[in-house]
Amino acid sequence: MPDLNNKTADTELPPDYHIHTPLCKHATGTPADYRAAARSVRMGELCFTDHAPDPSGYDLKHRMTILQFPSYVLMVRSIQDGGSPRVLLGIEADYYPGAEPFLRDWLPHQPFDVVLGSVHYINDWGFDNPDNLYVWDSVDVKGVWRQYFSLVRSLVELRLFDVITHFDLPKKFGHRIRDTDLKEMVQPLLDRIAKAGMAIEINTSGWRRKVAEAYPSPLILNLMRERGIPITFGSDAHAPEDVGYAFDKAVALAREAGYGHFRRYCARQSSLCPLPA
Ligand SMILES: [Zn+2]
Ligand SMILES: [Zn+2]
Repeated sequence: MPDLNNKTADTELPPDYHIHTPLCKHATGTPADYRAAARSVRMGELCFTDHAPDPSGYDLKHRMTILQFPSYVLMVRSIQDGGSPRVLLGIEADYYPGAEPFLRDWLPHQPFDVVLGSVHYINDWGFDNPDNLYVWDSVDVKGVWRQYFSLVRSLVELRLFDVITHFDLPKKFGHRIRDTDLKEMVQPLLDRIAKAGMAIEINTSGWRRKVAEAYPSPLILNLMRERGIPITFGSDAHAPEDVGYAFDKAVALAREAGYGHFRRYCARQSSLCPLPA
């Protein structure tokens, strides 16, 4: 396990556990560039979490192929020199019904430090893709949220992931539901997540989107804290300048919700660290 006691927690940003690479076909910059960016914002650790390959051909436009996966590992390994910032190897694995056999066979055998779980599709609709934004005009928004959380529930039950990323993603373009409906949907799900021992990421990319709010919302963050669900931080960087994006604001948000610690991972084992002052 990493030695957390020697860290100057009051001068460093928490680790960024959500960083893409050009292998996802929509990011720029080399891993070395991302690491240099992390160093420049006083970050002690970063984790690459590119989109997992999927041999079925699912969403090919946004991920590496299975044949490219070894080069992803090598690319990250090539900048793991033992110096600071420390570099971790992770993955963002998409869940959708039908993904189970591959994920079960493949994920547990890879040398990851942390595995993010995400849901980007409802049936064939990539609901957070700006190219498909028009579809939102012809759907029942509350029904979409319900379907989305039902998929997240299946993701949780698979017990293959460490952290749920962009937890309330359907709000990305501003399609919100009433707080009472949201609570009714998420409370049983959060109970399951707490039981599964998973963490939920504070993903700051929401502040770069139309919704102008981090994922998850303060309301959900409070419900998480009540259940003792740990947090990680992720910028969802697709360019080096995104690394650590608005992390000061995210730390303040976590504190407002009553959090005093965040979770770190190493070889898929977790530990708690105090939030920076
Ligand atoms: Zn994602
Ligand atoms: Zn991502």
